[in-house]
Amino acid sequence: MAFKAILGQERLIESLKGALNRQQLTHAYLIEGQRGLGKARIAHELAKAICCRAEGRKPCNQCNSCRKAEHQSHPEIKWLQEEGSIKIEAIRELQKNFQMKPYEGTKKVWIISDAGKMTTQAQNALLKTLEEPPQHGTILLITTNGNSLLPTITSRCQRLKLLSVALEKIQSYLMEEKNVDEKEAKVLAAFSNGVIGKALQLLEDEEFKERRQRIMVITRDIVDKKTIYLLENLEYFNEEKTNIEEILEIMTGWYRDLLIYKDTQKKDLVINIDALEEISYQTSKLTLKNIKEMLFIIESTKSNLKSNANFQMTIEVMLLDLKQKTQ
Ligand SMILES: [Zn+2]
Repeated sequence: MAFKAILGQERLIESLKGALNRQQLTHAYLIEGQRGLGKARIAHELAKAICCRAEGRKPCNQCNSCRKAEHQSHPEIKWLQEEGSIKIEAIRELQKNFQMKPYEGTKKVWIISDAGKMTTQAQNALLKTLEEPPQHGTILLITTNGNSLLPTITSRCQRLKLLSVALEKIQSYLMEEKNVDEKEAKVLAAFSNGVIGKALQLLEDEEFKERRQRIMVITRDIVDKKTIYLLENLEYFNEEKTNIEEILEIMTGWYRDLLIYKDTQKKDLVINIDALEEISYQTSKLTLKNIKEMLFIIESTKSNLKSNANFQMTIEVMLLDLKQKTQ
């Protein structure tokens, strides 16, 4: 046994395995990538490998150290996780602990989650440890954005970047490992933006599924209903105000599908593959030019809401503008 597979991060894991085998690990790593790609799991596996007591491949997942790491009870693997910002006091605490020899085994690993939440003072304090690390210590910093850290910190770490995963890979994973049917897997993969954690979250998310259904109804209303009846949907948008970003993403995905289907008639390019009949109906009522403009309307709605435009009015204007493109 060795590093557990983390979907889509095979190359990064291979390079870490190589460094482990050659005993060429460094004392500080910066693990970067979007939320949901597996940064914490990489940190967990790496910490386990560093502390592993086996002779051969690490982590062996068998020795006492590996088992403790697996049960989150390894005394020399510590996670620093804070609700708010990470203050200098927490880093000082870490440093005090770091100076002491390991009590169990020969290595110590500190993992700092959301390292970007360290205050400038905390980062400056950490710098001392990165400049003169104790022989037995490794620091793993986890962040969604390496640029949120001081360059003096990042330049002293080896950077491990997690990349987003090919949608086909996520789709087959959902089908093979989670028994999701092909159409649903394709939809979930498309809405995950290449983030496996997001795909798994959507799989469990009944509200997301309801929202998709509702958007299909609303886009149908835009095509079929008179303006006055279409505006009855305003109530729904108001109720879902806190989820508007997701709703507008679903709408973008929907009109993108209409555009592609209108243009190519190829159903394998469609994201909402489980709604092909509806896509076919709506495209029959719209011109290519109008669909492009509808996508543009949704994009400007997103940016208007980001710049704090009045919610109700922005949504009303969006619906009216979309309706206008169907006449
Ligand atoms: Zn082991």
